[in-house]
Amino acid sequence: MLPNDQDPIVAIATAAGQGGIGVVRASLGAAGPGAAEALLRAVCGSVPAPRHAAYVPFLDAAGAAIDRGIALYFPAPHSYTGEQVVEWQGHGGPIVMQLLLQRCLEAGRDIGLRLAEPGEFTRRAFLNDKLDLAQAEAVADLIEASTEAAARSAGRSLEGAFSAAIHALVEDVVTLRMLVEATLDFPEEEIDFLEAADARGKLARIRAALTGIQGEARQGALLRDGLSVVLAGLPNVGKSSLLNALAGAELAIVTPIAGTTRDKVQQTIQIEGIPLNIVDTAGLRETEDEVERIGIARSWDEIGRADVVLHLLDARVGMTAEDELIAGRFPGRVPVVRVLNKVDLVVSDAPDDAGAVTTPAASGSGGEEGSPAMPSRNGENARADAPVVREVRLSAKRGDGIATLRTALLAVTGARAGGQSVYLARERHLIALRAAAEHLEIAAAHADSRAQSLDLFAEELRLAQERLNSITGEFTSDDLLGVIFSRFCIGK
Ligand code: GDP
Ligand code: ZN
Repeated sequence: MLPNDQDPIVAIATAAGQGGIGVVRASLGAAGPGAAEALLRAVCGSVPAPRHAAYVPFLDAAGAAIDRGIALYFPAPHSYTGEQVVEWQGHGGPIVMQLLLQRCLEAGRDIGLRLAEPGEFTRRAFLNDKLDLAQAEAVADLIEASTEAAARSAGRSLEGAFSAAIHALVEDVVTLRMLVEATLDFPEEEIDFLEAADARGKLARIRAALTGIQGEARQGALLRDGLSVVLAGLPNVGKSSLLNALAGAELAIVTPIAGTTRDKVQQTIQIEGIPLNIVDTAGLRETEDEVERIGIARSWDEIGRADVVLHLLDARVGMTAEDELIAGRFPGRVPVVRVLNKVDLVVSDAPDDAGAVTTPAASGSGGEEGSPAMPSRNGENARADAPVVREVRLSAKRGDGIATLRTALLAVTGARAGGQSVYLARERHLIALRAAAEHLEIAAAHADSRAQSLDLFAEELRLAQERLNSITGEFTSDDLLGVIFSRFCIGK
């Protein structure tokens, strides 16, 4: 059921539980002028001056004070939602907040005040043109950011940096479309048109700009969603030890996954601001044991979803025949780092080789240093350009070589360090950008073909523009809005 976007709504805007301050917020939808004043008069006994903090009592129906705090009144349209908005800041205890919320609902019964759905305030802000869709999404991403870099990037998107880049691109597409469509009315001049107007050059510049935005957005999506790094290998090679070593070397552990502890299955760490979700798995081997088999099947599921696989080996024995079989089953799109663990146990003439990184010649395609493959989400990369196989020698037990592994991980994912100068982007945005790029590519092909078809050229430009517009929400379905805003927290 879609929320009725005209209803007056109210919610506790601060996190559940105890806090120094708690905030109840109401946005009054299509309630007539004077509704906010009436509500304030009922709950506080007076109406504060617009946008001025007033220290007032919060009164129950009998006129007794529930609490005392700050009331703020934002007349439409100068508010977060663009509607009449009232905020009460009281003491942040759950009971006080509930009493205040109940009191507001009661006082607003005659205007149909109801509890807000998740994200409904921001949905209003979008519908009332206070924010575009990419900015509205950035609100949620800022709240949910798991690292500082992600938060800073979400802030940039919220300020409109991403939207501005998209708008500039759309404007160039529109200009080119106008040129083309003007020419369509004079068919005899079609042939000369592309030359005269430098349509090809203009298109090439648009495509280059789009490629740049895609790069930034991909980096932003990385900051938002992080990468899944799966530890795989035979039993006892040191997977769990490596998980602990990676997590232990981490000073600021971000979002510990609920219900997991140090030596459970996953840990989120960050390397240069990129959140990496490190997943431990059951050792891969042939077994008759039913329970172990289930664990191994689960391991392969994790590997199938991985952005990077760490293939652990015992440095004393190296790649065994079983390891070859395992490596052969890794999905082709996923970059693999081969980790030779337990170097401390290797009896060697060169004992100091922990941390060495090599790119084994046997690794096949795409292994050159300096050209790391981007992690391929959704398997979009062809096998040919995906896996970057590297080798790192380390000791999970002693910690030698862990720093090198962290650097190798960053390199192999193609992630840029300290990436807060990008916009935070979502998978939805990447898909739209990719679709727009494809339409522009087809448009270019039409322009280059001998039988230049201006009709088809114009149509592809139109489709590209449509996809770009969907990012900022110029054309969106109710379904999409429902999906996006339902994932917000209540009160935002
Ligand atoms: P897993 O089955 O792959 O998860 O392996 P574990 O992490 O449980 O380790 C298996 C055994 O190898 C344990 O006894 C670890 O202490 C030991 N081990 C793991 N890494 C190292 C290492 O770098 N050096 C040494 N000497 N022992 C290690
Ligand atoms: Zn283990």
